[in-house]
Amino acid sequence: MSRWIEESLHADFRTALKADKILYDSETDKQRLVLFENATFGRVLTLDGVVQTTEGDEYIYHEMLAHLPVLAHGAAKKVLIVGGGDGGLLEEVLKHSGIEKVTQVEIDAGVVDFSRQYLSSICKAAYDDPRLDLVIADGLDFVAQCAERYDVVLVDSTDPIGPGEVLFSETFYGKAKDCLTPGGILVTQNGVPFLQGDELKNTMRAFKALFADAACYLATVPSYTGGPMAFGWGSGDAAKRRVDLATLKRRYKASGITTRYYNPAVHQAAFALPNYIAELAG
Ligand code: SAM
Repeated sequence: MSRWIEESLHADFRTALKADKILYDSETDKQRLVLFENATFGRVLTLDGVVQTTEGDEYIYHEMLAHLPVLAHGAAKKVLIVGGGDGGLLEEVLKHSGIEKVTQVEIDAGVVDFSRQYLSSICKAAYDDPRLDLVIADGLDFVAQCAERYDVVLVDSTDPIGPGEVLFSETFYGKAKDCLTPGGILVTQNGVPFLQGDELKNTMRAFKALFADAACYLATVPSYTGGPMAFGWGSGDAAKRRVDLATLKRRYKASGITTRYYNPAVHQAAFALPNYIAELAG
């Protein structure tokens, strides 16, 4: 029998998804993990009652979080992913043959094990790729002690509640910046500005103090309701954000990747902000 599952993320706004079948409902030592089947979105993963990813629209979020900075960089070899236990972001990043090494730091081994078993449509064989170094640790602890440098650092975190909270702190952003090679790019997931305006505001304030070039870009992900979601962008090299369309098209073609949402024109347009978001971004 189907039932409705209400998301508990926002104080004044709730969405519900019809669960045709609950496939899994259990607690890891970090969070409660529920997987259910929805006729439109396919398998839906929630952590502590908040939608993390769905089979139906994960490509939008993961493509925009992976390909946009990798292709903007143009010569990325080493990538650090913080969070992202479902493996969808990892799978997109590894599509680039020029990427030689990905370190993924995920706090909850339970999410990785679970995703390999139940969300293989999203992570595919990414967790078996020899270029991956998977570290089970807190992202803040990792960046605070990390001696390696990465061309691109991607933060695929839960929302700023529970274990994900530290990944929105100024301390974390500062330490993540220190993990970048010169001209490297940090990209963070920053929620849906219409409903989570402070999240973007605080991140952009921190980024402006840390980076020569701080901005955000947008993508509309149906299961993250309330309007487009924002991704924070920080780099010491402002040219990375202004790569011209012809160059992006050349890099995209040369990469050989196929995408369902990302393309070079969308890449450039994603940095155009409606006024209410530009005001939050400062
Ligand atoms: N796309 C999703 C979203 O926007 O809600 C995020 C998906 S991904 C499943 C988030 C991952 O971040 C989870 O697997 C969670 O365990 C991990 N995570 C949360 N806090 C973390 C921390 N402090 N360090 C490393 N990983 C963390």
